[in-house]
Amino acid sequence: TVSIVLYTSDLRLHDHPPLRAALDGSDAVVPLFVRDEAVADAGFTAPNRMAFLADCLTDLDAGLRERGGRLVVRSGDVVAEVVKAAAEADADEVRVAAGVSAYAQRREERLRSALEAEGRRLHVHDAVVTALAPGAVTPAASDHFAVFTPYHRRWERQPLRDPVAAPRVVRVPDGVGSEAVPSRSDVPSVSEGLARGGEGEARKRLTAWLRDGIGAYEDRHDDLPGDATSRLSPHLHFGTLSPVELVHRARGAGGPGAEAFVRQLAWRDFHHQVLAARPDASTADYRPRHDRWRSEAEAADDIEAWREGRTGYPVVDAAMRQLRHEGWMHNRGRLLTASFLAKTLYVDWRVGARHFLDLLVDGDVADNQLNWQWVAGTGTDSRPNRVLNPVTQARRYDPDGAYVRRWVPELAGIAGRAVHEPWKLRDPDRAARDYPDPIVDLSEGLARFRRARDLD
Ligand code: FAD
Repeated sequence: TVSIVLYTSDLRLHDHPPLRAALDGSDAVVPLFVRDEAVADAGFTAPNRMAFLADCLTDLDAGLRERGGRLVVRSGDVVAEVVKAAAEADADEVRVAAGVSAYAQRREERLRSALEAEGRRLHVHDAVVTALAPGAVTPAASDHFAVFTPYHRRWERQPLRDPVAAPRVVRVPDGVGSEAVPSRSDVPSVSEGLARGGEGEARKRLTAWLRDGIGAYEDRHDDLPGDATSRLSPHLHFGTLSPVELVHRARGAGGPGAEAFVRQLAWRDFHHQVLAARPDASTADYRPRHDRWRSEAEAADDIEAWREGRTGYPVVDAAMRQLRHEGWMHNRGRLLTASFLAKTLYVDWRVGARHFLDLLVDGDVADNQLNWQWVAGTGTDSRPNRVLNPVTQARRYDPDGAYVRRWVPELAGIAGRAVHEPWKLRDPDRAARDYPDPIVDLSEGLARFRRARDLD
């Protein structure tokens, strides 16, 4: 018998249940990745993610070759390509990890009916892309949790499956055509400081994180200049690291750092179970509250200043420039820049979410859209009307200003926390500095927000 393993957001050999099941039950396996034209048409092929993806595919192919196999890469409609590959290999079955987005759910339905029409089976594996499958825990009267705390309580007590070992040998049948594996160097317009992708890189980072980083996570995860988070998010997004394995290994490390870290992994599962139940929440308000955002035309200059990191609020600008330079931003930066756009500037969260998806290497439909909704107050936050003040945030999370000086060179000459309010400085260099005055007065922004939401 022959199995096809369709790779999607699970680009690894370690702890890969579909691959393990295929190898255990078949004589030969076709590891297949389809560059799906629908993903490109939907605008989900931002250069940073395409470059990282190329690294992942290159590394996966190398890992398969070490084991006697290879990766088969095709382009086109994913269902049509799977059906063709199944015919070429005379495959009995196709195995794929369950996905949560509307797109992934539809892909699964289409695959099932196309394969069944030809007498082949589709097996969908849970808990590959998330640690717990969406729906594994549910509240009494709903198909998903809408509040994190009760979800987390149940999530923590739910046993996880055991990780499965990476295969030693993978036999791929002849006669299944493949394109060349894409290379990072083929992708134009990539952020200069973009991280490397691939399972090898993920495992190195994991080992270093468990040894040197996780212990201090509870104390340091919000420290903007300290940059003391795991940076495993792109690896989780592309599945070069298994969330199940990660939870097991982090729990094994023990201590308050590990506990705080595992809680963040529960946030990831939380957003995935919301999106699985409410796939429309990638674009529609999860909890519609109002529809009086400023129009994009009216706010065009503000939006541009925000995107370019020239709002005049140094910590906002620093974070937006980090995003452009690295294709990644610290979580505290994401929170305060998103709040600044959606609340202080009162621009529709979808505008900001789109910009993040254009640049983020970990840009993920569940995590990005639902975090944006959380910040904008249309999502699962139980305090939807709180507004983060960028100056207070800066003083708390970048107390000496080192993060701002790193990313905003125009301000590099200002020592200490004064860098957070350059408009207050009376120094002679101010005019020569080429750094904008604030584009909005914070109290006016707050007043506009409160009016729009009928809070006064
Ligand atoms: P760590 O602090 O080391 O956390 C470990 C892992 O936990 C992360 O890799 C991530 O998988 C998960 N995690 C942590 N916080 C969250 C969270 N709030 N929601 C979901 N998962 C979380 N994360 C993405 O992976 N993709 C996105 O597109 C994305 N967009 C975001 C947009 C906004 C507006 C906000 C506020 C947050 C967003 N996040 C997103 C969540 C979070 O900012 C990143 O996961 C985190 O900064 C990644 O860095 P890290 O791996 O060093 O995180």
